[in-house]
Amino acid sequence: MNIKAFTREERAEYLKQLGQPKFREKQIFEWICRGAASAEEMSNLPASLRQQLDMESAEIELEQLSKSDGTRKFLLRFTDGNTAEAVFMKYDYGNSLCLSTQIGCNMGCSFCASTIGGKIRDLKAWEILDEYIVIRKHVGEDINHIVLMGMGEPLDNYEEVSAFLKLMHDPDGIGLSYRNMTLSTCGIVPGIERLGDEFPQLSLAISLHASNQEKRAALMPVAKRWSIDELIAVCRRHSEKTGRRITFEYTLIRGKNDSPADAAELAGLLSGMLCHVNLIPLNPVKETGMQGADRQAAKEFAERLERLGIPATVRRELGRDIDAACGQLRKKTLV
Ligand code: SAH
Repeated sequence: MNIKAFTREERAEYLKQLGQPKFREKQIFEWICRGAASAEEMSNLPASLRQQLDMESAEIELEQLSKSDGTRKFLLRFTDGNTAEAVFMKYDYGNSLCLSTQIGCNMGCSFCASTIGGKIRDLKAWEILDEYIVIRKHVGEDINHIVLMGMGEPLDNYEEVSAFLKLMHDPDGIGLSYRNMTLSTCGIVPGIERLGDEFPQLSLAISLHASNQEKRAALMPVAKRWSIDELIAVCRRHSEKTGRRITFEYTLIRGKNDSPADAAELAGLLSGMLCHVNLIPLNPVKETGMQGADRQAAKEFAERLERLGIPATVRRELGRDIDAACGQLRKKTLV
């Protein structure tokens, strides 16, 4: 009975069965969020209760530190032995942590290492929270921004991910504001719709990567299920409904989606929407054979978008020396 592996309601029920008063659950949740390693540390609980409680956490299996920018990439081992990645990054505005939501991924994007081998399983809400808790304790610094941009498709694990967001926001624990949480999706249209209703303050990022249906479907199988037109339509509704700026991620792949014509088509597609384009030169994954656009081409692509009225930036490629692209580190350890 791992005391972490419950929803708050389930934990309260379990404690009730042990004959404990109601406030115990809050005490334990506070300890969990503070990074307690075992029930022994929970000094405001009676010793007899502490002895009854088991606790297991995710463990850091591997850490890679980028010499160039302080990015730290972690491979975490969950209690069932499966592994997933998380990345700690430093920005001017504070520290950010990129979290995984699944072990592997089913989405099949052709340039991405996370999806090679498919999805093993969904992560539970408490396990996603555990990634944050374990890493924050390990780095010993506050982390005031999270992005769900690690392994997995968060909207393909909606229930656990939404429970996780609520746990992160819970004032009894970490209490992070929804604005400081970003969910990134490859474009699961009904999930985006639901997210806008249930978490209107959350920051939304869309992995777009192409400016028309044909090119997108060639890179991302999800586009065959929900077309680029349906995706853009739900994004327009989302930004109108929530008043929030949507980030479109666009990975520049040499010779595939990085021409001036691609930039012009992209500007047309996004025209008039409250949005921002984040350009990322592809981090090459050995298995895919694709190459990234060079820095200069990326800069020109961004300038072209800007001239056409679409705010765009080239993302700093943090951690390039440490396999920081989605799924690369885990992949390496599996072979
Ligand atoms: N499944 C979600 C969450 C993953 S986010 C999503 O698709 O948005 C990870 C981001 O990194 C996505 O934008 C993904 O398309 C991108 N990505 C994956 N592999 C990459 C690579 N090799 N180089 C650059 N970006 C990559």
